[in-house]
Amino acid sequence: MVCGQVCPQCGIEDAVPVVRGLPDSALAQAADRGLVVLAGCVVFEDRGAFHCRGCAHEWGSADDPTTDEQHLADLLGVSYDSVVRAIGTGWRRVGTDLAAVTWFLSGEPPQVAVGVAAGMLTLAPVSAVEDLSAAWEAGRSFTRDDVLCSPEWLAEAADEFARARRRTFRWCGRCRRPFAPEDFAGYRGTCVPCAERAGGTR
Ligand SMILES: [Zn+2]
Ligand SMILES: [Zn+2]
Repeated sequence: MVCGQVCPQCGIEDAVPVVRGLPDSALAQAADRGLVVLAGCVVFEDRGAFHCRGCAHEWGSADDPTTDEQHLADLLGVSYDSVVRAIGTGWRRVGTDLAAVTWFLSGEPPQVAVGVAAGMLTLAPVSAVEDLSAAWEAGRSFTRDDVLCSPEWLAEAADEFARARRRTFRWCGRCRRPFAPEDFAGYRGTCVPCAERAGGTR
C-alpha cells in the first residue's frame, strides 16, 4: 500500500502503485480480458500511477504532471518527482491566491490543502483555502529542503490531515460515493445531487 495515497473516487486509502512493464504479452492480454488478476493491479501503458484496491480506480501519474502540478513544483523550485514523493499526485490549483500563498487541493472530495509561498510549503486542512486562520492554527510548514530530504515527514502530515477530513465524510447510499458534510443532504440521507434528483429539481 502507498501511504497517504487516498483514492479520489471512493475515498479509501488502499492504493497500490501501478508497476509498468509486464514480462509477458500473453499475460497482459489475459489481464485485459479480465482472465487474470495481477496482484490486484492490472497494468498497461498510459495508466495512472496508483490503483485503488477498493474500487479499481486509477489516478495520478508521476511522469506526466498536470499544469497545476507542474506549477506547484515550479513554485517550490523542485522537480515534480520530488513533489510526488512527498505529497503524492492529484493537486489542482484553487481560487485566488490568499496572502501571497498559492493553494492547491487534492482528493475528491478534497482532503488536503497545500499552500506554497517563498520556497515554503504548508500542509493544511481543506478549509485553509478560504480561511487563512485554519492554515495558521493547524497547518504544518516545511522547507524546500524538507521536501527534498525528508519527504516522509510531509507524507505523514498530509496523511493526518486527510484522515481527519475523511472522518467527516458521509456515505451516500444512493450513488455509493463519499461526500463532504457540506455536500450532504442530512435530512434525506443522501448527497445533495441525489437529493435534488430525487426531488425532481433536475
Ligand atoms: Zn477507490
Ligand atoms: Zn448520492
